[in-house]
Amino acid sequence: MAGKVYLVGAGPGDRELLTLKAKRLIEEADVIVCDRLVSGDITDMIPVGTQVIDVGKNAGNHPVPQERINEILVEEAEKGKTVVRLKGGDPFVFGRGGEELELLRSNGISFQVVPGITSGVAAPAYAGIPVTHRDFCSSLHFITGHAKKGGDLKLAYDALVRLDGTIVFYMSVAAAGKLADGLMAAGMNPDMPAAVIENGTRPNQRKVITTVEKMAEAVRENGIKSPAILMVGKVCSLSENFDWFDDLPLKGVKVLVTQPRKKASTLGDKLKNLGADVTMYPCIRTEYIRPINPEFDSFTVLVFTSAEGIHSFFDWLKEEGLDSRALSGKRIACIGPATARAAEMYGIRADFVPDVYDGVHLGNEMISAGFINEEDRLILLRAEKGTEEITAIFDENNILYTDYPVYRTSYVENEGLNAEDFDVITFTSKSCVEGFVKSAGRKDFSGVKALCIGQKTAEEALKYGFDVTVSDKATIDSMACKLTETR
Ligand code: SAH
Repeated sequence: MAGKVYLVGAGPGDRELLTLKAKRLIEEADVIVCDRLVSGDITDMIPVGTQVIDVGKNAGNHPVPQERINEILVEEAEKGKTVVRLKGGDPFVFGRGGEELELLRSNGISFQVVPGITSGVAAPAYAGIPVTHRDFCSSLHFITGHAKKGGDLKLAYDALVRLDGTIVFYMSVAAAGKLADGLMAAGMNPDMPAAVIENGTRPNQRKVITTVEKMAEAVRENGIKSPAILMVGKVCSLSENFDWFDDLPLKGVKVLVTQPRKKASTLGDKLKNLGADVTMYPCIRTEYIRPINPEFDSFTVLVFTSAEGIHSFFDWLKEEGLDSRALSGKRIACIGPATARAAEMYGIRADFVPDVYDGVHLGNEMISAGFINEEDRLILLRAEKGTEEITAIFDENNILYTDYPVYRTSYVENEGLNAEDFDVITFTSKSCVEGFVKSAGRKDFSGVKALCIGQKTAEEALKYGFDVTVSDKATIDSMACKLTETR
């Protein structure tokens, strides 16, 4: 069967500005033909195993020529593949999307177009500039400052000045002086507000509010580099009042989030939402242990100390052709809300969650609340080589239990990361600390700040000299809160 090409806008950078359709197509594609402007945040979402053709640069570090890109799309589609052509911003806004469709059409290849949020609107929005406002303008103009090869940039400056609207310039860092001179020569007031926004919507976004007269100087003095949007118009003056992005509580804080590869990046997303510059570092990998045969029928209480334990166990139930009904009559204890939520995904509501989310409290509170006693038979479905704190409590209190490993963690090789490049490193489990230390290949992290989810994790981090802060509660929300407070 013939393949199909989706021309997809990836938006300006922040991955949460991706459309739902773009996200689905990225997940379903056989091959993704990717541009230079697509942010790393978004390329990280491409499933492992999907073929990626990076046309933003080739071996010589030059981008693949447009004609060749057009051919690649045809070739891949003719192999019967579902091709996603992923482009920064919107594919039709200075994105050569039209050129790419021509060859597809003449080769009879079917295609669809998915619009994206264009940087000329998004970067201003993240700088607190509404591109239109009834008190200031009645038109909005998108202009490229980059002429087609060999051509000269000829703009109708007179018309632009006369319209008195908001002018957004793409690809204009090098042309800033020429553009400003052109506008002023056509009669624009040199004091007309202007803005320069580099890396819009990304954690390293920079913004300079200036005037058209000083716009080129602002670009030069601040060392502004592509990608950047230049803007001219009265609305630029609103940035002072409306900027929200630079005011975010964690703006500029560089955070390394260590976490298992499979976990959803909830902590990362929460911190990004607070303005942090987040790097995800999946230093540990979880692997479900198979074959297993926990013979859970003979137990009265199932105890889970992590979401991974839940997922491994319920996956196994499914492999056995069973579902949650097999647990009818059993009581379920979970170490904390995240584990309980994981159980809910399989239709199971935890019967017991301690007030404080760690092994010691889980063990002690189950006993003190009368949830378990000597008559019970417990099965602890957890990681291989789990800590002994909870089992020691069971031993002391004559509680019968079986410690049953259902998953194990292994470490991911260091990818050339330097701890000192970050303001803080977050650890959400003891094994994350171990994983990070192992993958970093060193043991002394004095002076490096670490935010830990709980006491056990903190103790592990202290062994390696980290400057440790512990979250008040063992939850992702509480960690995000702590980071904001201690900033
Ligand atoms: N199709 C893209 C534009 C491609 S042209 C879109 O709709 O956004 C490339 C230009 O887009 C860059 O030179 C710059 O002017 C602008 N651009 C793209 N991403 C940007 C970003 N994150 N911040 C500021 N400008 C950006």
